Amino acid sequence: MNFTPVRTPLLLQHAFRDVIWNIPNEKKVIYLTFDDGPTPEVTDWTLNTLDCYRAKATFFCVGENVKTHPDIFERIKANGHAIGNHTHNHIKGWKSSTQDYLNNIEKASSYISSKLFRPPYGQIYPRQIAAISKLKYKIIMWTILSLDWNNQVSKEKCLKNVIDNSSDGDIIVFHDSIKASNNMMYTLPKVLEYFSKKGFEFKRIPESIL
Ligand SMILES: [Zn+2]
Repeated sequence: MNFTPVRTPLLLQHAFRDVIWNIPNEKKVIYLTFDDGPTPEVTDWTLNTLDCYRAKATFFCVGENVKTHPDIFERIKANGHAIGNHTHNHIKGWKSSTQDYLNNIEKASSYISSKLFRPPYGQIYPRQIAAISKLKYKIIMWTILSLDWNNQVSKEKCLKNVIDNSSDGDIIVFHDSIKASNNMMYTLPKVLEYFSKKGFEFKRIPESIL
């Protein structure tokens, strides 16, 4: 799977039913997710910003970043957010054998105790989905891409991507990485403000989906 539309087409969601695209039947709830951290310059700021709105989120961490920044990883958990596995070295499913891919996920799991998994770049083969699911991981994709990492996307467009497209039960992708920080740091507070005023709550991906 690989795609860059802001909102994941329903056709694609239906084609891959073994993964999670949204949390259905959740009225006035949005699921913010942050990939690729922990990153000292960005993750602490993200945690402080979420706290201002009493928002909870899910952080899909890269194992080697957790190894380097265990203190920030502990702070994510202490603040009540969920964590997920995003491989140990941020590897591409399409460029990895299924066994190598599983090994990299398992390596990350010695630092990240979670059965939520998100494939880097959204790249994953159906046989890899099957193998990962067999290990009792739940694969969490997304409903909305903010495209915060893309330097062709302005910060105003990044905000518009989220505001114009998000609704009940949607899973939104941001990145707590240096690369995405310009767009993400502009967009996140405005998204929190906008949807809070509309009566939305921000929750972590619930354990009940496992
Ligand atoms: Zn990633």
